Amino acid sequence: MVLLTNMAAVLSPWILRAAINHFQSEDLEMKLVLVYAGLIVVSSFVEGIFRFLMRRILIGVSRHIEYHLRNDLFAHLQTLSASFYQRNSTGDLMARATSDLAAVRAVLGPGIMYSINTFFTSVIVISILISISPYLAALTLSPLLAVSICVKYFGKLIHVRFQRIQEQFSRITTLVQENVSGIRVVKAYNQENAFIRRFRSSNDEYVRRSLSLVRIWGLFQPLLTLLLGSSLLGLFWLGGQQVMDGAITLGDFVAFIAYLAMLTWPTIALGYVVNIFERGSASMGRLCELFDSIPDVDDRLAEPAEVPLKGSIEVRNLSFAYNGTPVLSDISFDVAAGQTVALVGRTGSGKSTIANLLCRLRQAPHNTIFIGGRDINTIPLSVLRRHIGYAPQETFLFSDTVAGNIAFGRPAADRREVRAAAKVSNILGEIEEFPEQFDTFVGERGITLSGGQRQRLAISRALFTNPRILILDDSLSAVDTQTEERILGELASEIAHRTAFLISHRISTIRAADKILVLEQGRLVESGSHEELIAYGGPYAELYEKQLLREQLNIE
Ligand code: ATP
Ligand code: MG
Repeated sequence: MVLLTNMAAVLSPWILRAAINHFQSEDLEMKLVLVYAGLIVVSSFVEGIFRFLMRRILIGVSRHIEYHLRNDLFAHLQTLSASFYQRNSTGDLMARATSDLAAVRAVLGPGIMYSINTFFTSVIVISILISISPYLAALTLSPLLAVSICVKYFGKLIHVRFQRIQEQFSRITTLVQENVSGIRVVKAYNQENAFIRRFRSSNDEYVRRSLSLVRIWGLFQPLLTLLLGSSLLGLFWLGGQQVMDGAITLGDFVAFIAYLAMLTWPTIALGYVVNIFERGSASMGRLCELFDSIPDVDDRLAEPAEVPLKGSIEVRNLSFAYNGTPVLSDISFDVAAGQTVALVGRTGSGKSTIANLLCRLRQAPHNTIFIGGRDINTIPLSVLRRHIGYAPQETFLFSDTVAGNIAFGRPAADRREVRAAAKVSNILGEIEEFPEQFDTFVGERGITLSGGQRQRLAISRALFTNPRILILDDSLSAVDTQTEERILGELASEIAHRTAFLISHRISTIRAADKILVLEQGRLVESGSHEELIAYGGPYAELYEKQLLREQLNIE
């Protein structure tokens, strides 16, 4: 279509040339004038149709590619693991997924269209110019050679400056995103003005960087037009002389001017195209950084697993470090299917890290963790996670209904199952008092609920998928001891047939466990049942005494 558009577009000046040459030698005849005029109208009309189709196809294609690119990006983000999200801020990811994607689309649509168009127009027009008069063509086109030098020089500048703009845009997005999600803390500490100042200075920087691009662009575009203008100037001067000398006809001269005018838009478009391409390639580079990140928890070693997995867990000499900082060292323990295990230890001793490793949210070394007798790294992630119900320490709820949040892991569930799950975590009574009960919206991150309610919804969610292995990371920390007791009573029957990990600071939560693992600074220092550990008189017994004492003091 681009080619056809251009072929139609070059017809009009050609007809004009023929008309002028014709009427110079013969008398003006109205009928013939009308024929020439009609031909020009027809050729313009045909050109219009082709141009319409060209835009429709190329712009349409760019929208489709954008659609796929956006889907691919989101799907790719879903595969990346916890460590990736630790390195990259939410705001930065959002900036790339929106602003950079738009810059890439601009290349695919207008960018490609204008550049193909410019290419064809230039090739066709220049060859016609040469065919009319090689001498004039050489003279008028020589300033245009400078165009290519300009393009190369300015293109590089545009690329670098746009990259810097996008980096700053990421910073602004991050600032806003953090401010909005932490707005309660911001207000509680009177930091609104501090944030306004930080935002303003970021925004200033953004404008400064944008203006530095505008300066380049503002120089680049007129420069191209200037070069074109000097071509026209040369044409009038030298071409006019040639007509007077009789070297070319008047018709040739007029056609020559008309063709040179046809180069105006492609030259201007070239400026746009360079701008669009350089922006797009800077942005595509930023997108590729995302596309090229490989999940460190990868599924490639996975072998088909027999389903269901057995619920036994074996940990052998497990050591783990976050970016070189050792957190767990040489941990070994066994859990038979159906057992309840408790993890206790001071804050920072590595309990949540073990939970993350068991869900494979973090990558454990090979041959250190075995689930149902298989190295965890060989079990397909989807199989592994279908078998695990995990309530993380930081409760996260989605902006959905209460029922939607409980049934998150298995959406097509009926209301009775949702109720049963709510009953286990002792939240059913409260849900029934909500204005719309299970259909009540919990707000973003569960903002309309209390901390204890959120935790209990998370327990229900973990149990809802009927997992073989249940991991509750400090899931009862925000409820009072009486509620805790009731939940533990309900949970007892639920976890009797599952392998359960209870992580807690409170002895009351864990004393009934089959096995208690005591962690200290990433080392397993004791393990055994409550009675065994008390009799042994180690760190656990000490912790127990202290908590007992505190409880007694509270009661008195
Ligand atoms: P708590 O009882 O407070 O929940 P915990 O026993 O669950 O503590 P972990 O969350 O496992 O402790 O953390 C163990 C250690 O690892 C801590 O020293 C912590 O600073 C470090 N750590 C935890 N998460 C990360 C992370 N994503 N990157 C780097 N270090 C981390
Ligand atoms: Mg923890």
